[in-house]
Amino acid sequence: MEVKAFASSSKGNCYLISSDNTNILVDIGYSPTKVLKEVKPDALLITHYHQDHISGLEVFKKHCDCPIYFGENIRIGDLPIFTFEASHDTEAYGYTVVGDERVTVMLDSGEVTPEMQVEIDRADKLIIESNYDERLLDFAPYSEELKDRIRSDTGHLSNQQTGEALKTCKAKEIYLAHLSEESNTTAYAKQTVERISGKSVEVFRR
Ligand SMILES: [Zn+2]
Repeated sequence: MEVKAFASSSKGNCYLISSDNTNILVDIGYSPTKVLKEVKPDALLITHYHQDHISGLEVFKKHCDCPIYFGENIRIGDLPIFTFEASHDTEAYGYTVVGDERVTVMLDSGEVTPEMQVEIDRADKLIIESNYDERLLDFAPYSEELKDRIRSDTGHLSNQQTGEALKTCKAKEIYLAHLSEESNTTAYAKQTVERISGKSVEVFRR
């Protein structure tokens, strides 16, 4: 099983999970033309309907007739897919794709629910949000109202929260995703998460 990010930030999100035979896209907050030049998807999974996850959806539908799923347990080709709820300010899901390895993707969520923790602990490869650094967010150029929304348990995961959640993770590859441009940096995310979790992580940033 392979994972890659076409886009991963607060501006746009699009990920690819693939086995030898099957390509699964997660979210389309990126140019569909560029994605479709590189890969022929067998399905598109949507985590939630916020713009940074679906900005390319209408164009995608015109150029690709693969099935699109939102929060359903399904099988795509040889790959069963299990869904779980995230804790966001709109209906939102994460997904686990089960091939020869378990690949889990969990994006926007204000907290790690017990169900999400189970998926983290069982994953062989994990893509997980690490949206903001708590101290950088304090000084970010946002309204206090928006800061409170980001920090709330239906907002986003901080580097600190993600670090805590990864303490019991046994995945051999962990990718931090959806870093904020304003209130996080690659170095802060990596250092904070690695210090708290004791795990080594990669950062998706593009
Ligand atoms: Zn998002």
